[in-house]
Amino acid sequence: MLAEKGWRSPTLSKEYGGGGLSQEHEVILAEEFDRARAVGGVGFPPLFPALLVWGTEEQKRKFLVPVVRAEKVIFQAFTEPQSGSDLAGIVSRAERDGDDWLITGQKIFVSGQGIPNYLYGPFVTDPQAPRHRNLGYFIIPYPSKGLELRRQNLLNGHGQNFVFLDSVRIPGDYLIGGDHQGWQVAGTSLELEHGGRGSPIQRDEYVNHLLEYARQSKLGEKTIGGDEVLQQLTMENYIDSHINGLFKLRNYWMYTTRQEMSYQGSLSYLFSKEYLMKNANRARDVVGMYSLLGEKDPRAPHEGIQEAFQRGSLVWAHPGGPIEVQKVIVARRIGISQTRERAATTPSTAGASGV
Ligand SMILES: Cc1cc2nc3c(=O)[nH]c(=O)nc-3n(C[C@H](O)[C@H](O)[C@H](O)COP(=O)(O)OP(=O)(O)OC[C@H]3O[C@@H](n4cnc5c(N)ncnc54)[C@H](O)[C@@H]3O)c2cc1C
Repeated sequence: MLAEKGWRSPTLSKEYGGGGLSQEHEVILAEEFDRARAVGGVGFPPLFPALLVWGTEEQKRKFLVPVVRAEKVIFQAFTEPQSGSDLAGIVSRAERDGDDWLITGQKIFVSGQGIPNYLYGPFVTDPQAPRHRNLGYFIIPYPSKGLELRRQNLLNGHGQNFVFLDSVRIPGDYLIGGDHQGWQVAGTSLELEHGGRGSPIQRDEYVNHLLEYARQSKLGEKTIGGDEVLQQLTMENYIDSHINGLFKLRNYWMYTTRQEMSYQGSLSYLFSKEYLMKNANRARDVVGMYSLLGEKDPRAPHEGIQEAFQRGSLVWAHPGGPIEVQKVIVARRIGISQTRERAATTPSTAGASGV
């Protein structure tokens, strides 16, 4: 129903399945979804940045529109067993076969619920070419002959997938960008995945629950919040959550006003990964042993949300590249590394409409 109104991607133009609305509308929608505690809220499908910057008009209509309209599901398949942080070290191959490509290799940690219609990601098109100039970026239909997905369950219990590809045949027009431009195309996706679009709202259910717990639960005669030490710990969580929100808001403003961005996305991303782990530890100190009880235990406060948070905080440190890698990116962009790096092109800096 949201997709029918174009509210999943409110600012994207109507011709691509979006709402054709302004940034102000998007902020209002995000706030209302937040107030209603609606799952998901507004945002953009992950393939959106790469297609808007690098896709042909036919590719945008063929792949972007059905995903924005929630008619098709798409999973991001970048990581390989030997190349997660070092994404440029991928080895899965795409070989030309007439007008088609044959793709062989393995991907890992590929997130997504349900059954996808497409996967997408970079593959080696030229093993002789130097790093960063040897990749193509492909969309792979699922199911396809030779393509297999197997469930990979992590500590937080959410679904990731192992992906196996054995000579999977892909039509030539499923290549996004040139056959040596896959690194640049992936960079466009990663700028947004690394927090480059920010967010107009900060939603932190874990802090909200912790505040409620500190207000209501008793420790002897006092509430938890009335205890000096536990009050300080709860406040640390509240403050870090606010800082995280401000980073996201700053990035949202910079992105939507089309300012040149460099370190801001990765700084926000690494801060959020670090604060979530710190908050999980402090929440454990505040809630005590009860924070270890899962959702099935009737004694668990707030249906076990703090227990799930502790597991989640460890898992969330990794998607999109771990904390240390975000620090490497920031260091390169603020000029304290041997390597200098600029941000990849995003739909915002490329001048795409309705970003
Ligand atoms: C919940 C979840 C969802 C994910 N979803 C997806 C998805 O949808 N699609 C997808 O393609 N991938 C996905 N990933 C994979 C994710 O991108 C990788 O886990 C991540 O890039 C790290 O790669 P790795 O796990 O192989 O760790 P490694 O690269 O092996 O790194 C291990 C550790 O080594 C350290 N390290 C590595 N390099 C450096 C360095 N240069 N400097 C300092 N320290 C370093 C880091 O501390 C890191 O934690 C997901 C992962 C998780 C956990």
